Amino acid sequence: MNLRAIAQVRSNFRSVTETTNGSDRLTNSFYGFLFGENPILRQLFPAAMDMQRERLVAAISYLLDILDDTERAVGFLEQLGRDHRKYGVEGDHYPLAGRALHSALRAYTGPAFWTNSIDEAWLDVIDLIVTSMANGADSDDLPSHWEATVVEHRKILDDLAVVRLQADVPVPYDTGQYLPVRTPQRPRMWRYLSPAIPANDYGELEFHVRKVSGGWVSPSMVNETQVGDRWTMAAPLGGLRVDLTSGADVLMIGSGTGIAPLRAQIMEMTTRGINPRVHLFVGGRFPCDLYDLGTLWQISLSNPWLTVVPISEFDTDPWWHTGPTIEPPFGMHQRLTGEIGSIVASFGSWSDRQIQVAGSPTMISSTVRALLDAGTPASRIQHDPV
Ligand SMILES: Cc1cc2nc3c(=O)[nH]c(=O)nc-3n(C[C@H](O)[C@H](O)[C@H](O)COP(=O)(O)OP(=O)(O)OC[C@H]3O[C@@H](n4cnc5c(N)ncnc54)[C@H](O)[C@@H]3O)c2cc1C
Repeated sequence: MNLRAIAQVRSNFRSVTETTNGSDRLTNSFYGFLFGENPILRQLFPAAMDMQRERLVAAISYLLDILDDTERAVGFLEQLGRDHRKYGVEGDHYPLAGRALHSALRAYTGPAFWTNSIDEAWLDVIDLIVTSMANGADSDDLPSHWEATVVEHRKILDDLAVVRLQADVPVPYDTGQYLPVRTPQRPRMWRYLSPAIPANDYGELEFHVRKVSGGWVSPSMVNETQVGDRWTMAAPLGGLRVDLTSGADVLMIGSGTGIAPLRAQIMEMTTRGINPRVHLFVGGRFPCDLYDLGTLWQISLSNPWLTVVPISEFDTDPWWHTGPTIEPPFGMHQRLTGEIGSIVASFGSWSDRQIQVAGSPTMISSTVRALLDAGTPASRIQHDPV
């Protein structure tokens, strides 16, 4: 696609989603067209559609952000197509979804603003979505899901648990990717989790799960998971990775359980003799949220290419925290206090680095904004869709 067409679809999508309730109205309209014309498809989706709606807008926004890199965009869409197999969505469903998306965008933009050139630009994007997702769904001969048994559930903080599992057969993810996960406590709800250890031949998995207040699934993962529970994982997604051939050093910025995919990649790098320098900024709201400093410190001791800098938003733990205070081990960089994105950007633009950002949606967007404001080229920054 040419740059003008990409700019047009980006600006049209922003104008739709940034109006009050725009995202909700667009997605309601999309599912209205989709289920109205193909009622049989409704049964493939969960009863509560809130999460589907959020994910649809997040996926399109992410796609539009990376659209000028066609290879990356196609890779992302193929993964999404494979991911949707867990709902029973097949290749020939995508043209129906493409038509519904086109109708929803046209209806919601309104005839006064829906010009021929916007129409053509969206048709190109929708064609890319439909073709790539259908290819992803049809060309994959892997199973649509894998089963694993919980072998350890350890509450590290009141709102955070480490869950270790033994998969029946190894899940074929690339280190740095994330997996759709379903638990027996919430059998119809899939949530994404990032493995915190590298993929391995033994089927061992480790997830770090934070309880999101008011969430449907994460509180039960943190509080109700039992050893022996059977979890289900679907096809891996995402492409966070260190390019070892580029010669560029690495900047990783992770907050909360967002450190999981970064930690996994660092662990994988420790198995290699030569690595680029890695600066890892690890953030949390309070000092007690820096729950994994001990492990990261141990890794940095025997891997001089790794520097770990802890950051917390507040300087002291909250009054309700009754566990031990976590202070950086002697010899580690002192903990800095403040907003992680602003602190990292205050050191400069890091424009010669390959950069990965991982954490909550708010943390990712504020960190990316701080880096862009400091002059970092957008093409240097990787993050998962939020
Ligand atoms: C690529 C990716 C990787 C992820 N990896 C991990 C991981 O390794 N560990 C982990 O604990 N979580 C991870 N998450 C988040 C996880 O998938 C769920 O979104 C989260 O656990 C909340 O699910 P829930 O059902 O409890 O909340 P929901 O019922 O889905 O949502 C409740 C409310 O909380 C908001 N919300 C959802 N997620 C967050 C969040 N992360 N921070 C703040 N507010 C939120 C929603 O917008 C909604 O308003 C990842 C998400 C993505 C997109």
